[in-house]
Amino acid sequence: MSDLSTQHRLIPAALEAVGTACAVSRAVQANLAQLCEVTKDDRSPVTVADFAVQAIISLSLADQLDPLDRLIVGEEDAEVLRTDKQALIRKAVLEAVQSWRPQVTETEMLDAIDACNHDGSGDGFWALDPIDGTKGFLRGQHYAIALGRIENGKVVAGVMGCPNLSIDQSFPLGEVDSEGVMYAASEGAGAWEFADCNATSSPMRILAQKYDASRPLRFCESAEKGHSNRGDSGKIIDAIGTEGEPARLDSQCKYSLVARGQADGYLRLPTSKTYIEKIWDHAAGLCIATEAGAIVSDVRGNPLDFTQGTRLEKNRGVICAIDGLHQKIIAAIDSLSIAKE
Ligand code: AMP
Ligand code: MG
Repeated sequence: MSDLSTQHRLIPAALEAVGTACAVSRAVQANLAQLCEVTKDDRSPVTVADFAVQAIISLSLADQLDPLDRLIVGEEDAEVLRTDKQALIRKAVLEAVQSWRPQVTETEMLDAIDACNHDGSGDGFWALDPIDGTKGFLRGQHYAIALGRIENGKVVAGVMGCPNLSIDQSFPLGEVDSEGVMYAASEGAGAWEFADCNATSSPMRILAQKYDASRPLRFCESAEKGHSNRGDSGKIIDAIGTEGEPARLDSQCKYSLVARGQADGYLRLPTSKTYIEKIWDHAAGLCIATEAGAIVSDVRGNPLDFTQGTRLEKNRGVICAIDGLHQKIIAAIDSLSIAKE
C-alpha cells in the first residue's frame, strides 16, 4: 500500500502475518483427508489450521512489533493442545508451523498460541479469528483469516485473508479459487485488495456499490442455518422488493463481498435470544466494509460496540449494507418487528 500515506502504522506487519498464515492454512486444507486418517478425527484439519494460524500470527507479530503493539485477543488457547490426548494434533500443528519456520520448537509454538490471551481491555489490541468459517474450511469451501485492530473501543484497521475466494468477481462463489485474495483497510485510508493473499502484490482500491433503486439488489448470508435467521432475512428481502435467494457462504468473506461491490447487503439476523457476537468475528470485516463505503450496524441500527471486551454485549445481529440500502433494511426490521428483544 505504498500510495497509502495515511495507512495505520501497524498494517504492514498485519499483512505480512496474515499473508503467511494464508499459505499455511491452504496447505493444511489440501491435506484434509490425510490428516483425518492419521488422527481418526474428522474435525482435526480445522483444529490443526486454527492453532497453526494463531501460532504463526502471534510469532510473526512478535518479530515485527513492540510488546505493547502485539497484544492479541485470539479465539484459541493451547490448554487442550498440551494434553497427551492431543499429541497427534500437536505434532501436526508443529509440522504446519515449521513449514513456515523450521526452527520453531513445540514449546515456542504452544506459548505463542497462549500469548493471544489478551482480555480485550486497554487502549489497543488485535482481535484474531485464525480460521473464521470453520464449517466452510471443513467443506473445502470459504473461510477467512481475520485480524482486526481495536484502539480505544474503535476498530481502526483490519486485514482479512480469504484463501479460497477469487479476486475475479465473475468466478462462481460456490467454487474455490486456490489463489485467494487478501483485504486490508485502515481508518481514513480506504479498503484495498491484494491478489494471491500476497502482501507484496500491488494493492487495488475497492469500493462498495452505490444504491440504485432501479437495479436488482444482491444479498449474502451465512451458509450455516444456525448462524443467521433465514426466515427473517427472507421477510426483509421481500419487504425491500428484491427477488432471489441470498448468496450463502461462510466466514467474514461476506463483508468483503459488500466492500468490493459484489453484494449490496450482508444480513446476520439473530437465531436465538442468547447468542452474543464475538469481536474477532467482525472487527476486520467491519473495517474493510466501512472503509469501502458500506455501513455496518446491529439489527437495531446501532454501531457495533467494541468497548465491551471480547464480545459485542450491547449488540444483536449484524447488518452490513451499502449506503441507502442499509437504512431501508433497518426500517424493514423495525416495521416487521424482527429480533426486537
Ligand atoms: P459464518 O461463517 O458467517 O456462519 O460465521 C461463523 C461464526 O459464527 C463462527 O466464528 C462463530 O463464532 C459464529 N457463531 C457460532 N454460533 C453462532 C450463532 N448462533 N449465531 C451467530 N453466529 C454464531
Ligand atoms: Mg469465527
